[in-house]
Amino acid sequence: MSAESGESKKAQVIPLKGNKCPICKKQASYEFRPFCSKRCADLDLGRWLDGAYRLPTNEAPGEAEAGAEDED
Ligand SMILES: [Zn+2]
Repeated sequence: MSAESGESKKAQVIPLKGNKCPICKKQASYEFRPFCSKRCADLDLGRWLDGAYRLPTNEAPGEAEAGAEDED
C-alpha cells in the first residue's frame, strides 16, 4: 500500500498514548489494545475465564446447583 501520497494527517494510526498494557505495563499496541501483545491479551483473557468459572452461571436456578450435572 502506498500511503502518504498527498493526504497527510489523515488515516493515521492512532498512537496509544498513555495506554499501557495492564499486564506488563508496556506500551499497548493498537492491534492488541489495551494490551501490548497477544500474549498479554491471552493472559488477561485467561484471568477472566478463570474468574468466570468461579462465578455462578446464568443457568436455571435450582438445577445445576449442586453441580450434579453428570447424573445422566
Ligand atoms: Zn503486555
